[in-house]
Amino acid sequence: MNGKLVRDTFFHRKDALSDIWTCKCGTTRKAGRGYTNFVSHVQALHVDDLGALLNDDSHVPSSTNAAISLFYSKKPLTIHEWLDFVVAGLEPFAVVENQTFIRLSKFDPISYKTLMKYMSMMTRTVETKISSELPE
Ligand SMILES: [Zn+2]
Repeated sequence: MNGKLVRDTFFHRKDALSDIWTCKCGTTRKAGRGYTNFVSHVQALHVDDLGALLNDDSHVPSSTNAAISLFYSKKPLTIHEWLDFVVAGLEPFAVVENQTFIRLSKFDPISYKTLMKYMSMMTRTVETKISSELPE
């Protein structure tokens, strides 16, 4: 695992001289010799986000900024907006390809195929979470 990528994605430094790093969740970690401090925190508390970081093959980190932009890039936000809109509003899935709706909405367009891909990923994630909490 790329410890530097994990640290730079989840943590920011108070200032350039500080060896205290603050996670997105507010937890602070002191920089050690390696990245174990940071990686173990992320593995313990942010394992879902870590999975997303490691599984996103469209994301090839070339710098700190690339790693950070993963969390603020437009695509996940767009997908989230569409999923939320369709699921919460019980909208027909085909609405994502409705040209009139797209013209009137603020959402960036995605394809029906993309929507269905993320719908089934979300379903699997929810199923996994539920089954891990159910008694045997
Ligand atoms: Zn954290």
